[in-house]
Amino acid sequence: MSVEFNFEIRSKDIAARIGKLEINKKELETPALMPVYNPNKPIIPVKDLKRKFNVKILMVNSYIVLRNKVLREGVLDLGIHGYLGFKGLIATDSGSYQLMNYGDVSTTNREIIEFQEKIGSEIGAFLDIPSLPNAYKPRALEQLELTLKRSKEAEDANFVVNAGIQGSTYLDLRRMAARKIGRNFKLCAIGGIVRLMEEYRFSNLVDIIATVKKNLPLDRVVHAFGLGHPMAFSLAAALGCDLFDSAAYALYAQDLRYMTVNGTKRLDNLEYLPCSCPVCSKYGIELKELEDREKTRNLAMHNLYVSLEELNRVKQAIKDGNLWELLSIRARSHPELLTGLERLKRYGRWLSELDPITKKSPFYYLGRESRYRTEVITARKRLKRVSSMNRVNVPPFGKVPIEILDVYPFGSFRVPESLIKEEPCFNVREIERIKGIMEYQFGSNASELVEKNFRIKKSKRTGRIRGVYRGRELIASVRASDHFVIPKSYLADELKKKFRYPRLRVVVDDDAAPFISEGRSVFAKFVVDIDPGLRANDEVLVVDRKDNLIGIGTLVLSPREVMDFDRGVAVRVR
Ligand SMILES: [Zn+2]
Repeated sequence: MSVEFNFEIRSKDIAARIGKLEINKKELETPALMPVYNPNKPIIPVKDLKRKFNVKILMVNSYIVLRNKVLREGVLDLGIHGYLGFKGLIATDSGSYQLMNYGDVSTTNREIIEFQEKIGSEIGAFLDIPSLPNAYKPRALEQLELTLKRSKEAEDANFVVNAGIQGSTYLDLRRMAARKIGRNFKLCAIGGIVRLMEEYRFSNLVDIIATVKKNLPLDRVVHAFGLGHPMAFSLAAALGCDLFDSAAYALYAQDLRYMTVNGTKRLDNLEYLPCSCPVCSKYGIELKELEDREKTRNLAMHNLYVSLEELNRVKQAIKDGNLWELLSIRARSHPELLTGLERLKRYGRWLSELDPITKKSPFYYLGRESRYRTEVITARKRLKRVSSMNRVNVPPFGKVPIEILDVYPFGSFRVPESLIKEEPCFNVREIERIKGIMEYQFGSNASELVEKNFRIKKSKRTGRIRGVYRGRELIASVRASDHFVIPKSYLADELKKKFRYPRLRVVVDDDAAPFISEGRSVFAKFVVDIDPGLRANDEVLVVDRKDNLIGIGTLVLSPREVMDFDRGVAVRVR
């Protein structure tokens, strides 16, 4: 039996994505959190996970099931879904965690793979070998090599393999593991990071996730294995993690630890509950007085509520294009989290290549790390294209030509007053503005396409530029939200003549050309080449293999994503 597996990007910000994952016709929106359910010691029953939390995916440890005779026979008899009474996706873990904590497990790789096949897990794992952070390097390498060998035995499994990427804190090992695992598996799990989380070593976490992501094809679904604390969700999602799992909600509850998005509190030390989830609303601080089992169960529910709530916040931020702002806010919870956020600077170029060129939300400067944001890196690069010497200092972007001060991000950013050095004076001819915007968007020579007799039409209400006319023909409109130029066919033709292949182009296969000429979207799988200088949300020219212009539209993925993905829309054609 083969497994049906599809993944596509629906929305993006920084390296984060909202994705649609489909396994055997069961759909899951990512980023998603998989609560870990321990059938030996259930704390929140499955029916509550479904009803109260609307959980669409569960994680169960297959090793625990395999080792317990009653459980094993029940699950083999009814299948894991029937036994648990859960129709959603079930991911099983192999026992690697037990291996790390207790040193040995009494099963073999093949046995645990076959067992997961028999019980009907949609997502399963081979017995990978996690190494601790800063392990003795030859030992970490040995463990990684055994992990890679075991991965071979899972290649034909009839579930989606959640393939472990190990290598301790050694980035060269992580790189090698990512390249090898990424070649054969569509779902990759970054393992061995729980201890880093517990020790608040967020900059190590950033190094590991970024190294793995940079060495995986972008269409691989990435699971941050064991990352279950909501305070780190935004950071891991920003680097492109799609799946999280939480045993923490229950383990913390057993230890009377109360999760918040800013860190963990001991329930005993709290006199007020900073939360309005159903549990905290119902009990308030009386939660402390509940009988032990009830207290644990309710605390676990609170922990899961705050985790899922934070994940929704991350997803909304991706939609709105203000994930950086959420990162800045979260980083103020703990100095190590701020250190982790500042570590993103090291990966700025890579992140900026994935980040959209224009976003819905204004750019808010919220701290010194804002100077290294992807929008700043991208804007500085594009500012070099603009020829105007008439510039004002706009921190953190640098010297910005006054012609393009209305363009995103310059038109909508907010910085603290103390950073503003010059007040720009506005007295620019509209035609000069159009030239500046076109240079910024398309390249240095684009302004040569602007003829003297072009007419500019402005909005009566706002006074802002609406459209550019050549005679009676509308050749471009100017989008009110970000002042980007949206070329019509005349201008698109001229841009194509001005800029040589492959500049500004998305090249599609001949099979797809007729559909695109009719105005249908360009799907990633039909793209054969693309200008690597483009960014998601750029206006692009769609051409066939002979470089005939067949459409104009908005690129919705980054060039690397377009080439790596076989599914989903790459260009929305107008
Ligand atoms: Zn609560």
